[in-house]
Amino acid sequence: MRVKQQMAMVFNLDKCLGCNTCTLACKNVWTNREGAEYMFWNNVETKPGVGYPKAWEDQNKYRGGWTRDEGGNKPKLRQASRFWLMLNLFYNPVMPQMEEYYGKGPFTFTYEDLHSATPTKLSQPVARPKSQISGEEDIDIEWAVNWEDNAAGAFVGGTGEADPNFKNMSPEARNAYLKFRDSFMMYLPRICNHCLNPACVGSCPSGAAYKREEDGVVLIDQDRCRAWRYCVSGCPYKKTYYNWRTGKSEKCILCYPRLETGQPPACFVACPGRIRYMGPLLYDLDRVAEVANAPEADLVRLHRGLLLDPNDPEVIAAAREAGVTEAWLDACRRSPVYKMVVDWEIALPLHPEFRTLPSLFYIPPESPVASADSAEGPYDMTGDGELFPGLDEFRIPMEYLASLLSAGNVAEVRKALARQLAVRRFRRSERVEGRVDERVMADVGLTVKDARHMHRLLSLAHYHERFVVPTTHTEKTASTPYIERGFAGFAEFTADKGPKRRTTFHGPDVGVEH
Ligand code: SF4
Ligand code: SF4
Repeated sequence: MRVKQQMAMVFNLDKCLGCNTCTLACKNVWTNREGAEYMFWNNVETKPGVGYPKAWEDQNKYRGGWTRDEGGNKPKLRQASRFWLMLNLFYNPVMPQMEEYYGKGPFTFTYEDLHSATPTKLSQPVARPKSQISGEEDIDIEWAVNWEDNAAGAFVGGTGEADPNFKNMSPEARNAYLKFRDSFMMYLPRICNHCLNPACVGSCPSGAAYKREEDGVVLIDQDRCRAWRYCVSGCPYKKTYYNWRTGKSEKCILCYPRLETGQPPACFVACPGRIRYMGPLLYDLDRVAEVANAPEADLVRLHRGLLLDPNDPEVIAAAREAGVTEAWLDACRRSPVYKMVVDWEIALPLHPEFRTLPSLFYIPPESPVASADSAEGPYDMTGDGELFPGLDEFRIPMEYLASLLSAGNVAEVRKALARQLAVRRFRRSERVEGRVDERVMADVGLTVKDARHMHRLLSLAHYHERFVVPTTHTEKTASTPYIERGFAGFAEFTADKGPKRRTTFHGPDVGVEH
């Protein structure tokens, strides 16, 4: 057993408002600079839809991630072997193009017109679209990040038709769902998954992309990056980006300067829906390749099994041997992520069939309460005497969620939803009906204690319950990335001038100062 540390995350899709506060928090801290106009390290998609960049989930088109090697013991890069990549450094046919991210290019609006336009009684001043690259005004805008916001693509003939998550349904069933825009929709906030088996790292010919030791954050060393951009095509989630100004690729850094000071990333703190959770995990590096190469139906279960129990004496001994600190071990025991992913099995990885073993897990969304409570008792729309819709009455088709979150394994999604539903029913029995219905929890394999803890964590949890981030060497880091903004960040780099690499967690002797 080789114990490694990983900072991991859970997003509760049941609570996402689609407000994009997370997107703006990230944009303002990290990508409000030249060359990064089109980049959104955090974006929030509306499903059904094709997302940003268009059709990122379609690996027949982009060839990202890994494929299973049935005869072997580790997966293979889908785009090509490392040897082929080296031979074809100047030819990459599966690179997403700007139009797939941003139509004709990133744009802003002439907001200054709102203040400076000559007053007239005929019309209000209008902010007109303007290219962020050329400055040209009144350009056509036809696609951008979050273009399908609020079901804008979910209709017959819309982009929702090309959503690959309908693949296990007939075209008739898909169109029946799309015909009525409100039949279902959901938000999908996305950041880099800081994967245990990152295809961006596996694809990089320069060795610039790496997974750092102290917390598993995946980074791209700006000094070593040679702009081959195989990380962009290799990442199946399309979460690395090429910066035309610096000539380097870059990506979400999980706000590591904040992590080092015990704070969660900016997008986590900003989220008003409080859907985001963060906590450390331990995993067994020796088994990563084998799990990533498992049959699709087993991927979620085996991924869970890769995460080590921080209360197991054998794991604790191996972790100490590997140099894991007591502070990290203590944080692992309090990690909300371990609870939701392993103990309760309610959080699932996004597209596990890409075989990168993401460290970000999603709690699938429940459907709204379809019935109403009244003085005469529940107004029962479902016909089974229940206030809450049963699993088979959920608006979002199970096959759709399974395609998104469990490589098509419907049983995993049903279990995650049934457990959330059981907590709803249990809490109603306790708070409204004045009795403790232990049976609903036992039916889904959980206890009353689990129900109370799940309810607390999913709906009431405060800052320190949602974010368990062990502090590191605060004296060696800035307290907030905000104060570094503008003079010590990506904006300082150019193709001919390397950045200063930061000293690392392990101290000044390890980090290289250039
Ligand atoms: S999600 Fe992040 S860590 Fe995973 S492959 Fe993509 S860029 Fe790499
Ligand atoms: S993740 Fe949070 S901040 Fe982002 S859109 Fe959802 S609710 Fe808003």
